[in-house]
Amino acid sequence: MKKEDFNEGLLGFLDASPTPFHATSNMSMMLSNAGFLQLNEVDKWELEAGQKYYVTRNDSSVIAFTYPKEQKNYVMVGAHTDSPNLKLKPNPVIKEHGVVKFGVESYGGLLLTPWFDRDLSLAGRVSYLNSEGEIKETLINVQKSIATIPSLAIHLDDKANKDKTVNKQTDICPVLTTNDDFEFDEFLRWQLSKNEILDVKEVYASELSFYDTAKAVFLGLHDDFIASARLDNLLSCYVGMLSICSVDANKPMLFIASDHEEVGSESTSGAAGSFLESTLKRMFPDMDEYMNMIRTSMMISADNAHAIHPNFSSKHDSKHAPYINKGVVIKINANQRYASNSVTISKFMDSAKSINEPLQNFVTRSDMGCGSTIGPITATRLGIETIDVGLPTLGMHSIRELAGNADAHSLYKILVAFKN
Ligand code: ZN
Repeated sequence: MKKEDFNEGLLGFLDASPTPFHATSNMSMMLSNAGFLQLNEVDKWELEAGQKYYVTRNDSSVIAFTYPKEQKNYVMVGAHTDSPNLKLKPNPVIKEHGVVKFGVESYGGLLLTPWFDRDLSLAGRVSYLNSEGEIKETLINVQKSIATIPSLAIHLDDKANKDKTVNKQTDICPVLTTNDDFEFDEFLRWQLSKNEILDVKEVYASELSFYDTAKAVFLGLHDDFIASARLDNLLSCYVGMLSICSVDANKPMLFIASDHEEVGSESTSGAAGSFLESTLKRMFPDMDEYMNMIRTSMMISADNAHAIHPNFSSKHDSKHAPYINKGVVIKINANQRYASNSVTISKFMDSAKSINEPLQNFVTRSDMGCGSTIGPITATRLGIETIDVGLPTLGMHSIRELAGNADAHSLYKILVAFKN
């Protein structure tokens, strides 16, 4: 696939995926279009050699795999569907000072200040009871800009450019309307009616997140960059999904995108949960075959990497400071915050070299803490040899992040060419 087509598709995927639910739904659709058959975890599985399958959990995590059956040396690609955001509380409506606001909780380690003065919309999952007494779920996406978090004017905040702190309970409530007739239940029913869901006896619960309605764009004098929300980690979801769609069904490959990475991965749909392990056990129920697969496979955990910031370069170790558009980053940490080791690094380097794709290294400064990824979690849980890689990114966990126009396509080519 050419870089231009790849990147156009990427922008569309980013815009269409404001929440993990939407990302999972879009990836499911694309996998299904590429000939992957849908499995359901509650059914009996009768897998056929030479087929390709996918399965979802909690509507927010997805696993896709080819099934050559005899070859078990899988190339696995792992990513996460969630991004830091502001989540609506169950009783969100606050009416005061002439406006209606929404109470929110912050999800993950989000950078709060960039959320001010943005045009915000809402999306997520809603559960409701219909007249037959059935509980149903649906995804909603308001799409229109319906709220904003106005900054406090500098005249009222003389420390605004010096000691800015943001209180998560009081300072970041999105303002919705000046009409205090607003009812949350009515608002949800209206959104359901836009999905042609009219048989709603009661709306029971929802998981809704705010997002910036600004679209993903190419940016820079030569379109050098991609600017968007949720590049961490929808970038890797898109790369992983397109990679498995591009390989032959006889090549053993698996792609997993998990929810809840930004909050520690501990959930039914998170990487610390049982989703991948139980799927692999159903693919290889015989214990010896299972262990053969585990110990001959390799997991490539793909998550964004901190590119060196041109205005804050001292935050990086200068010998291990990735540049944007200079290639995929191998992430290394002596304390196992990343799972890369010399064996997995060598295999990855060899595949990149075989198609002349550049690579870079990232090691955090020794006097600073280091983030982590799903890499060490799956390596620990399952015993699969793992490498942590990522695409150079600026402004990680901001409402708008910045990556290069060349690096995602480079990772895609390496994954398709990967020999394990
Ligand atoms: Zn991430």
